[in-house]
Amino acid sequence: MGPRFMCWNRGQSVTPASRQALRRATEASASLRTARSTAAFTSKTIRRAFVANRERLARAVGVPFAGHTYAEQVHGTNVAVVGLNGRGAGRASRESALADTDGLVTAEPGVSLNLMYADCVPLYFYDPVRRAIGLAHAGWKGTVGDIARATVLRMQETFGTKPEELLAAIGPSIGACCYEVDETVAGKVREALSAHDAAPEESAEVLQAGREAGKYQLSLQKLNRLLMTKAGILSSRIEVSTLCTGCSTDRLFSHRKEGGRTGRMVAWIALRQDGTET
Ligand SMILES: [Zn+2]
Repeated sequence: MGPRFMCWNRGQSVTPASRQALRRATEASASLRTARSTAAFTSKTIRRAFVANRERLARAVGVPFAGHTYAEQVHGTNVAVVGLNGRGAGRASRESALADTDGLVTAEPGVSLNLMYADCVPLYFYDPVRRAIGLAHAGWKGTVGDIARATVLRMQETFGTKPEELLAAIGPSIGACCYEVDETVAGKVREALSAHDAAPEESAEVLQAGREAGKYQLSLQKLNRLLMTKAGILSSRIEVSTLCTGCSTDRLFSHRKEGGRTGRMVAWIALRQDGTET
């Protein structure tokens, strides 16, 4: 029983049994950008299209729509345990999504943990020993707030997960090439690096001088990878997608590159309901 995940809403579902497969799955998310909805789901029409897309996702990945669970996503660090109650929350309306939540964990087969992205970083967690999974949404605030560790801790306390047994992956998201930040964000990143005793060379990889004074290029992938290792995940068990949303607007959505008027990708992970081994 392995996790299956992909981003966006068509085809390309993968059942990773290995780190390589985890990498392929995150890269397979480059599948496409079909229905290019250009606004948030504010009108009824868009909302209907939105739910229809999510139902298509459910069919494509083979996890019944009733188990697809969404969170409100407020750039915080709260991680919710999705059990038999809570499963399916938010799948048809934002109002019913799990409130004030940016991370989800479960050990229930048939529950798909789904979060939405358009530059922020999807963090995937899979405990193959206790058969539990996690998914987190990490923009810069969630990243420096250490939602990676919060998710690992929630899995530890809920399922008895040992961090060193986790497999983790970091999905397509905005890369340092396209992510310029100002002094305010850079300062928070430096604080996080220092709080975790990052080595100078690690810090230099995360935050680089920008094209002008007071600007920096930030790698949220490298920072999350570092924080995952500080939370006890083995470096050799973390896969990082090389896809940058900002560089790939032909295939992916980028909030920043497209001036905020763009769609959202869905990152998802689920334990197979049929219990088949992969
Ligand atoms: Zn880029």
